[in-house]
Amino acid sequence: MKCRIIDVANQKGGVGKTTSAINLAVGISLWEKKVLLVDFDPQGNTTTGLGIDKRENINNIYGLITGKCSLDQTILHLSEHLDIMPGGEDLSALPMEVYDDKDRLFILKKLLSELRQHYDFIIIDTPPSLNLITLNGIIAADELLIPVQAEFYALEGITQVLKTLKKVKRYTGESILKTHFLVTMYDVRTSISKQVRQELEKHFSSEVLKTVIPRNVRISEAPGFGESVLTYAPLSKGAYAYKELVKEIMEMKI
Ligand code: ADP
Ligand code: MG
Repeated sequence: MKCRIIDVANQKGGVGKTTSAINLAVGISLWEKKVLLVDFDPQGNTTTGLGIDKRENINNIYGLITGKCSLDQTILHLSEHLDIMPGGEDLSALPMEVYDDKDRLFILKKLLSELRQHYDFIIIDTPPSLNLITLNGIIAADELLIPVQAEFYALEGITQVLKTLKKVKRYTGESILKTHFLVTMYDVRTSISKQVRQELEKHFSSEVLKTVIPRNVRISEAPGFGESVLTYAPLSKGAYAYKELVKEIMEMKI
């Protein structure tokens, strides 16, 4: 099977990017597919969310990019089918570090092009911004997963961002990404949740995933225990929804 590289992105913070990256990666690995989870966010929430203590001075992706550590020293094996490339605060220095490098938009793509032969899936978590780091994530990816929080201002900016993405891809000569929208923190009791989903479907129709992630307290508790919700509370509504997401992503024809 060809490796699928999925970048989880949205310029808004707190919409469920990190949660979705973690649960998608863990969920796919439970299907016994080999997964690499890349924490490409200086906040490093994906790393801590899976129980890795960044205070231990672990090697991270910034060290790898800047030649301070090797690939073998950076990738951690979390389970038989799941590896992680940790992120860390120093990653925020990357845009400065490479500002005059003509290949600065292709740093992650280059890194992953050597790695993709070893994995079935590579999942990238990115920060809430549209900067060099997020552009690197987009350019490196084959597919884009955009979590959209079911709230009033959810759709603001998305159309603009998509236009930018398409421009970036065209400018770099890359083929246009396949995009998947995922409604997160859905609350059946509110009409705004339904509206957000309807609006998304109106604008992006088939690109909207059938799976909807409900607001669920177990999902928000899990990172505190260094686990995905799939392992922390496997019978919860949250875990059930993320299992559905994994199935939908795995079974789609790409
Ligand atoms: P982002 O990476 O986009 O900033 P996160 O995944 O970190 O967003 O989510 C933001 C906060 O919302 C976190 O505290 C997370 O635990 C919580 N959260 C995410 N998804 C859900 C959900 N479906 N139900 C309840 N809380 C959620
Ligand atoms: Mg995040």
